[in-house]
Amino acid sequence: MKNFKNKRILVTGGAGFLGSHLCERLLGEGHEVLCVDNFYTGRRANIAHLIGNPYLEVLRHDICFPLYVEVDEIYNLACPASPIHYQFDPVQTTKTSVHGSINMLGLAKRVKAKILQASTSEVYGDPQVHPQPESYWGHVNPIGHRSCYDEGKRCAETLFFDYHRQHKLRIKVTRIFNTYGPRMHPNDGRVVSNFIMQALRNEDITVYGDGKQTRSFCYVDDLIDGLIRLMNSPDDFTGPINLGNPVEFTILELADKVIRLTSSKSRIVFAALPQDDPKQRQPDIGLAKRMLGWKPKVPLEDGLKKAIEYFKGLE
Ligand code: NAD
Ligand code: UDP
Repeated sequence: MKNFKNKRILVTGGAGFLGSHLCERLLGEGHEVLCVDNFYTGRRANIAHLIGNPYLEVLRHDICFPLYVEVDEIYNLACPASPIHYQFDPVQTTKTSVHGSINMLGLAKRVKAKILQASTSEVYGDPQVHPQPESYWGHVNPIGHRSCYDEGKRCAETLFFDYHRQHKLRIKVTRIFNTYGPRMHPNDGRVVSNFIMQALRNEDITVYGDGKQTRSFCYVDDLIDGLIRLMNSPDDFTGPINLGNPVEFTILELADKVIRLTSSKSRIVFAALPQDDPKQRQPDIGLAKRMLGWKPKVPLEDGLKKAIEYFKGLE
């Protein structure tokens, strides 16, 4: 018999990189999970090992269209996250963040579910405040190639807070900083997957710009732990709250680490920096420490080793 504490939980984007880890963790805690995905960037392989679990249901659905289900909690993760993928069909990217959020918020309102939005550090744009606290309003180009993602996510945050104020919805908004690990799409163009795939094939490592731009990389298990803690935090805590690893590296440092950990013969080559590429990014996680008792535990090298093992298995 099921434990009465167990919940029915909807994960949108559940077949994606983060979504598949979240579904796995929630099933492990004994919850019923409804994984909704249109398989735009997600893959069946990400959840294949979960199929057969009687508490998992998978539904192919685009959240830009209304969804009628009965659930207690919603994690809204659906949205392509890598620049290559979200710029491939930018109108669809904005629709997923805006129409998709409206549909999921409407669902949450009807069934009185608690709803969490996977927002992003991209809402800070190319930040002029460093590290970025939640109180920073950002520095975002509204008409550039990244805008479909950045402004879509900013609008989604607005919708979440207006549903909270206007309809008293229980919301949680987190701004996720660069996260990596097994089940990232090998061709999604994000820096960690690109560098590892290139290194494993002894191909040139493509550093964009001079490689002095920085990012802070969070291992997926740490991030999932933060998402679940946030969902379980008191109802009067809405966020927005940063989740990410505050240890900052230049992209060149990352390239060196990947080459060393894979014992690769790859050389570093420099290529053009994409438009509006943020120069620096580091989360201020003071709020997450205070409100959730959360901080990342996995150092970059340990996480990279696990990601490398995963990508080796794909080769
Ligand atoms: P991902 O591309 O692997 O996963 C996104 C999932 O959403 C995919 O399975 C995709 O098929 C699905 N999807 C896209 N549009 C959809 C739609 N209209 N309807 C239904 N499903 C749809 O990316 P990810 O890294 O797992 O990111 C998950 C979420 O976390 C995204 O919302 C992303 O913006 C956010 N995020 C991720 C990172 C990161 O570093 N991974 C950083 C900041 C924010
Ligand atoms: N990057 C790079 N080489 C690559 C892919 C990315 O130098 O092959 C750089 C990119 O220009 C950016 C950083 O790595 O400065 C992180 O890029 P990613 O696409 O992973 O995420 P985001 O820019 O959204 O943080």
